Amino acid sequence: PSEEYENLRRRVFSNTKEMWYFINHELTKLKKGDIKVEKLPEILDQIEHRKSFILSDQQKLPELDGYQDWRQQEAANVSDLVQKRLKYLQNPSNCRDARKVICNLNKGCGFGCQLHHIVYCLIFAYATERTLILNSKGWRYNTKGWEYVFYPISESCLTAYDDKVIQWPANYDPKVVSLPFIDSISQKPKFLPLAIPTDLAHRIVRFNGDPSSWWIGQMLKYVLKPKPAMQKAINETIAKMHFMRPIVGVHIRRTDKVGTEAAFHSIDEYMVHVRQYYDQLQLTQHVDVRRVYLASDDANVLGDARSKYPDYEFLGDPSIAKTAATHRRYTPVSLTGLLVDLHMLAMSDYIVCTFSSQVGRVAYEMMQTNRVDASDSFYSLDDIYYFGGQNAHNRRAIMNHTPRSNQEIAFQAGDLIGVAGNHWNGFGRGTNKRTNMNGLIPWYKTADHLVLYPFPEYKHANE
Ligand code: GDP
Repeated sequence: PSEEYENLRRRVFSNTKEMWYFINHELTKLKKGDIKVEKLPEILDQIEHRKSFILSDQQKLPELDGYQDWRQQEAANVSDLVQKRLKYLQNPSNCRDARKVICNLNKGCGFGCQLHHIVYCLIFAYATERTLILNSKGWRYNTKGWEYVFYPISESCLTAYDDKVIQWPANYDPKVVSLPFIDSISQKPKFLPLAIPTDLAHRIVRFNGDPSSWWIGQMLKYVLKPKPAMQKAINETIAKMHFMRPIVGVHIRRTDKVGTEAAFHSIDEYMVHVRQYYDQLQLTQHVDVRRVYLASDDANVLGDARSKYPDYEFLGDPSIAKTAATHRRYTPVSLTGLLVDLHMLAMSDYIVCTFSSQVGRVAYEMMQTNRVDASDSFYSLDDIYYFGGQNAHNRRAIMNHTPRSNQEIAFQAGDLIGVAGNHWNGFGRGTNKRTNMNGLIPWYKTADHLVLYPFPEYKHANE
């Protein structure tokens, strides 16, 4: 390692201690009554600055450790490998004889939700070595079907002919199966998200901090290939926007979602994190303009943001939000707008969103395919990352914990804890699988538990 790397590493260590000295000192003064509560905002400001400084230094470490080119190359190699395998799976040499799985794109939900439906089907296909046939006639975004907007997911195999279709699960292994929606499977196969293939896992974890979403992003990368007419429409809208970096993507999901599946969040709640992103960035580079790409299904958001935050430059197209907000959300026009929004969010340096929204999660998954590691490049105001219908998401305790209040639960190093969410205050909620106790857990004493599954290895795909 270089001298620069070693110095930086020591500075991170030392500045973490310094931060504690500072907090300890200020809180002790407060306790003794030497300072007034009115001083707290300023103290918080200083703590935030110290935190940003440490994080900014941390983020430089991988750029200086000499492995960044390797990570970049490895990420590209593993992605190519997955794409090759999917292509192999989707283009059997003899389509008539191939084992198949059929999915209908008729799930009555938005585009993000439908994309995740396809991802689930493609993962099923990959796990069971079946070619995925996508039925999309009468699709709500284009009645003529998926293939009129995107390239088909196979070049050579788009039908199950007139083979008998058996609904999965069956008590034998039929040639052609059709899949129920993920939400209605009673016995979930272990290969469903957030599991990743064993044979790739040890490669992925070395360049990416969130392999599950990376893996899901790879599925999206395979299926989401707009045809020329759609691509042209997307490009033309984007060309008008003067996209420049640095830029933060903000996704604000409102209308039908609020009150039913998610809480309302004001623009201010999003902007706190945008400001923090830029404050931190400014420690290492000059930021000319604080740019924000604003995507929403609420047509008023863009205007509100512009009048409330004159120091920021907001990019976005109010007509896209307007189309999304009207009841005719599910049209080819609204699809073009949504694809523009997704593309722009995924191209941003950082995303602030709500992961309760499938659009927010798709944007992040796409972001994961755009760079080596996007796992530190987002802030979700509500949920932690998840895949709808996923298998249990656990964290592993890395040290013992004795509860300090009756809301907290005890655990021992090694315990598996099923997580319900993070409260973004140092604690999350979970259930200790050993004791069955549910309650608050100090997040830092646990680490994400990655599930590996022995997917087929597609040795022939490389030939
Ligand atoms: P969810 O309901 O947010 O979990 O995601 P879905 O994709 O299932 O349904 C939401 C639908 O609302 C999307 O498919 C879009 O049609 C629309 N929508 C939501 N957010 C946006 C946005 O930021 N931009 C655009 N253009 N449309 C959006």
